[in-house]
Amino acid sequence: MKVLVVDDSVIMRRIISNNLKTAGFTQIVEANNGAEGLENLEGIDLILTDWNMPVMDGLTFVKEVRKNGSRIPIVMITTEGTKTEVMEALKSGVNNYIVKPFTPETFVEKIKSTISK
Ligand SMILES: [Mg+2]
Repeated sequence: MKVLVVDDSVIMRRIISNNLKTAGFTQIVEANNGAEGLENLEGIDLILTDWNMPVMDGLTFVKEVRKNGSRIPIVMITTEGTKTEVMEALKSGVNNYIVKPFTPETFVEKIKSTISK
């Protein structure tokens, strides 16, 4: 399973990638923002994306991915944890979300439940 990690923070991408590796994922592609993410969708089975990013934010990125009819599972990893924002993300095509900061246990649980649906 090939995973795309989209986040403008190098540290956050490192944390997410390390969590993915611990969970057994070996094929990980990283992108700096939504625009870079769109250029790296080839063969991707799961997307983990940040919300706040320069150039193209996570919500716009999700809308763009879904606009082309893609059904790749998407998990939003964000500090935007309020109900309105979460609702907006889900309505835009996000399958699940993880609020930062997260524990490795929560991370794995959310990822596994997303890909098993
Ligand atoms: Mg960010």
